[in-house]
Amino acid sequence: MKAAVLVPAAGLGVRLGGGLPKALRELGDVPMLVHALRSVLAAPSVAAAVVAAPADGVDAVRELLARELGPRAPVTVVPGGSTRQESVRRALDALDASCAVVLVHDAARPFVPVDVVESVVAAVEAGADAVVPALPVVDTVKEVTADDAPAGAKERVVRTVDRATLRAVQTPQGFRREVLAAAHDASPEGDTTDDAGMVERMGVPVAVVPGSEDAFKVTRPFDLLLAEALLNRRRAEVDSGGVPSN
Ligand code: C5P
Repeated sequence: MKAAVLVPAAGLGVRLGGGLPKALRELGDVPMLVHALRSVLAAPSVAAAVVAAPADGVDAVRELLARELGPRAPVTVVPGGSTRQESVRRALDALDASCAVVLVHDAARPFVPVDVVESVVAAVEAGADAVVPALPVVDTVKEVTADDAPAGAKERVVRTVDRATLRAVQTPQGFRREVLAAAHDASPEGDTTDDAGMVERMGVPVAVVPGSEDAFKVTRPFDLLLAEALLNRRRAEVDSGGVPSN
């Protein structure tokens, strides 16, 4: 069974700075969106992609992808929305109805390894309605509140959460197509940052598979440094005759 991937790429990237939509920020002279598409389309089980581009940049993104991926690349570009959820919905609406397995992958995660993509698809094929790749949380996590903050501080700790039960969730997230569509139908006006969260709210179990540190999301300027370092390591591996560690 082949999967299709929806790529929300219409975010402005305010936290990253730089004044360009985040997906179009370059890493090693190539826009982040191109890296993300190459990474996810490298997975043998992924047959096609639908990109939700900034609404005023659809033609420019189409031209960019034809140039970088070739005119025959199985990629459709549609206008994104004002929230990530709306962008995913628009991409889903543009998807060929024959696609039974749908992935949603952030353009801001340029280096997801093929084995993560394959294990997400495999879990849906094995019967899961929804699947997320996730990593254990390394920091201690505390719940805080602004209520009754001690003098000199804006917040105080409410409690420490048991880290052993926490996971940091990445993309691609995988779904049976009808389940993802039903989740979007159930909260059409929402502003959720996580498609699996919408599925959870319908009471549908969400499976967890191992994620990867390489699948991190570029959000803040520091992440760009990390992404450049990862890209340089991969290019060095290819130059020395190997395959990228992916
Ligand atoms: O802002 P954040 O990092 O959470 O965005 C995650 C992904 O959602 C990015 O790939 C971004 O381009 C996308 N997005 C979108 N449409 C929006 C907001 C974010 O496609 N309106």
